[in-house]
Amino acid sequence: MPATPLTRAACAELDAADPLAGFRDEFALPEGVVYLDGNSLGALPKATPGRVAELIEKEWGHGLIGSWNDAGWWDKPRTLGAKLAPLVGAAPHEVVVGDGTSANLFKTLVAALRLNPDRRMVVGEAGNFSTDLYITQGVVELFEGAGQRLVDPDDTDGLEAALAPGDAAVVLLSHVDYRTGALRDMAAVTELAHRHGALVVWDLCHSVGALPIELSGCGADFAVGCTYKYLNAGPGAPAFTYAAERHHATARQPLTGWHGHARPFDFTGDYEPAQGADRFLSGSQPLIAAAALEASLELWGRADLKLVREKSLALTDLFIELTAPAGLELVTPREAGRRGSQVSLRHPDGYAMVQALIARGVIGDFRAPDVLRFGFTPLYLRHVDVHDAATALTEIVRTGEWRDPRFAERARVT
Ligand SMILES: *Cc1c(COP(=O)(O)O)cnc(C)c1O
Repeated sequence: MPATPLTRAACAELDAADPLAGFRDEFALPEGVVYLDGNSLGALPKATPGRVAELIEKEWGHGLIGSWNDAGWWDKPRTLGAKLAPLVGAAPHEVVVGDGTSANLFKTLVAALRLNPDRRMVVGEAGNFSTDLYITQGVVELFEGAGQRLVDPDDTDGLEAALAPGDAAVVLLSHVDYRTGALRDMAAVTELAHRHGALVVWDLCHSVGALPIELSGCGADFAVGCTYKYLNAGPGAPAFTYAAERHHATARQPLTGWHGHARPFDFTGDYEPAQGADRFLSGSQPLIAAAALEASLELWGRADLKLVREKSLALTDLFIELTAPAGLELVTPREAGRRGSQVSLRHPDGYAMVQALIARGVIGDFRAPDVLRFGFTPLYLRHVDVHDAATALTEIVRTGEWRDPRFAERARVT
């Protein structure tokens, strides 16, 4: 890796040589904004409005009901799943698109508990995203004697100790921690869980589109993830579910709707699951939102994830180096191999600092209680953007600009 460039001119040179530079022009980014929140809601690809309009005007307006066949609507959960599969290292028939991450967590956790009926514990992580913890609480209430055991997944001994009693049915972890940006070793954790007789559900919300993922290569059992973060599919876009082929014949999820039926148009009285990953489907999907996902997956189909990862690490390294003078505590692992595509910094007044940054056109976000969070999206961020954002943050902290009372007012969404 080259020595970290500290001048803006050196950043501009790196941008000129960037093999991913062409992608930036495929996004509709507002003028004067440095967007460091693509890990929360990705930016809009320019092709998306046209694709959504095509679905509405042509497929719906003209095609009407015939579009279920003619425009491939019925098969969208499968065809979009197949397009998404290379991004997570899965075979095309192991991924389906549909519902939200929370619902898919529910389905995969119940399926995993049913596949491991002699065991009743779900091992999760204490700092996981709230919905992962809440859904697990809802799931274990449905199984007699079930419970949730929380660990710090970045402490391997702690994880091993949680598995040692031999009662863990499933381990649910985030591949990248949403708050700290720590990247977990998917291969090692999956192997550890399997050695102790537990299945693994991976939450990929903060890693899909941020780095190459090898679900099959790591022997993962199930995975879920959303598409509106790094994948840029827009608010309300459907999530995805991965089920390893070896579980296709036996996994039973609880939301047994007609789209997951073996022969949905027989309209028989009894549920019989489809043979593949599509048994994880339930009901009709938001196809207008799925059209936006289709447009963004077309773009991802042309992006080399190895280059995305290299640039992501260069951008996050750069931001860490350039913000060091601000003196905020670095929460994200300094070691590149243990980092996702975000940088989190800690300060008790972090909320006001982020608001002051947003007032300057640098958009990051804040996670309670004290984390300033910045996501780095290599397809549309340049090194000069990172330089400008880091300069703005350093100045805000140095001058105390964030102390203006208007930056302390809390909005509903942080
Ligand atoms: C963003 C995120 C979710 C979102 O769940 P929704 O059902 O889409 O609201 C879930 N888990 C993690 C780890 C996330 O980062």
